[in-house]
Amino acid sequence: MKVPLLDLQAQLSYLENDLIAAVTRVIKSTRYIQGPEVECLEKEIAEYSGAAYGIGVTSGTDALLVCLMGLGIGPGDKILTSPYSFFATMGVILRVGAIPVFADIDPVSFNIDPVKIGELLAADTERKIKAIIPVHLYGQCADMTAIMKQAEQYRVPVIEDAAQAIGAEYPMSQNGKVDYKRAGSMGIAGCFSFFPSKNLGGIGDGGMVIVQEKEIAEKLVLLRNHGAHPKYYHKLVGGNFRLDPIQAAALRIKLPYLQKWHRQRAENAATYNRLFTETGLVAEQKVKLPASVYADSLGPEHGIKNVHIYNQYVLRVRRRTELIEWLSKNDIGCEIYYPVPLHKQDCLGSLASETYCPEAEKAADETLALPIYPELTSSMQSYVVEKIVQFYR
Ligand SMILES: *Cc1c(COP(=O)(O)O)cnc(C)c1O
Repeated sequence: MKVPLLDLQAQLSYLENDLIAAVTRVIKSTRYIQGPEVECLEKEIAEYSGAAYGIGVTSGTDALLVCLMGLGIGPGDKILTSPYSFFATMGVILRVGAIPVFADIDPVSFNIDPVKIGELLAADTERKIKAIIPVHLYGQCADMTAIMKQAEQYRVPVIEDAAQAIGAEYPMSQNGKVDYKRAGSMGIAGCFSFFPSKNLGGIGDGGMVIVQEKEIAEKLVLLRNHGAHPKYYHKLVGGNFRLDPIQAAALRIKLPYLQKWHRQRAENAATYNRLFTETGLVAEQKVKLPASVYADSLGPEHGIKNVHIYNQYVLRVRRRTELIEWLSKNDIGCEIYYPVPLHKQDCLGSLASETYCPEAEKAADETLALPIYPELTSSMQSYVVEKIVQFYR
């Protein structure tokens, strides 16, 4: 049996006609820049995520970049973030000339540890830290209650890297009351990626920023289009960060499926968890299951299930290198997200030496993502687990 890490053909089988019709509609409209498809998607994503405004951009990377530009981040500024993420999270900080400061991750959630954030903010007596970028890794939100509390105390804005977490729900505590918020809607801005492997993936690159405040939305709209308003009058130096209407049209076809896809991914995760437990691999500590850390806080009155949208299903495993070889020999796709933590990347040069993040380093050495896409069948999952059992026996 062949089990790829991700199979986009599986969803194409029921989306193809609608996607072609949507793309054709854009072609025939001749509205190739901005236009109604982009505007509608912006409204739909903002509404879906519980935000006031959506600003479509070229990619998840550019969503983060335009936010840093919007906050006026530049040389000498420091940005606090997670050392365990896709490179873009750090890349944008370096590109605006700022310095990344890393707070180590919590080993259970893989997300940035708010206690470490507190320590770094307290130690920043010169107040060089100008923003915090928590990453909602693998589809589960970072601990935003604690993060927002620190951020408010030190008056530092929070930009959520929600590239892997669109629609993920988080039980936010405010004034002793729990309120369920969707990823991206809690900080000053939230950034999404529509890279094809994300839960809501385009037919190419795309991204979006969501914000609550009109003033910020207007600034990001300017920056997205060379800072021009009106045309050819440039108040700010921005860039071309416009979302392609063909992508917007395709994403609007996919958005109505998103809740169902999240549920299917969560069901697949539950199936893996059950199988790995039944086979004894968990008890023998050959594999460690991913934790949905907020699931327990959910009361039955809430009917909210997307606390983890499983963009990735990530285990900690023993003898990882040999296991990967074995899986690929058996036609099973898998991937390491991510093998080198950000503070260990060569491009950081001398900036790297100041950082000590043992949990991120340990995660980078131990984690392995298995196929989890919505259309994955239960027989494929059984095959994956069976092969992993065979490996360890
Ligand atoms: C995918 C991703 C990005 C970048 O998104 P692109 O659309 O590929 O530019 C940024 N941060 C994280 C955590 C991601 O997973």
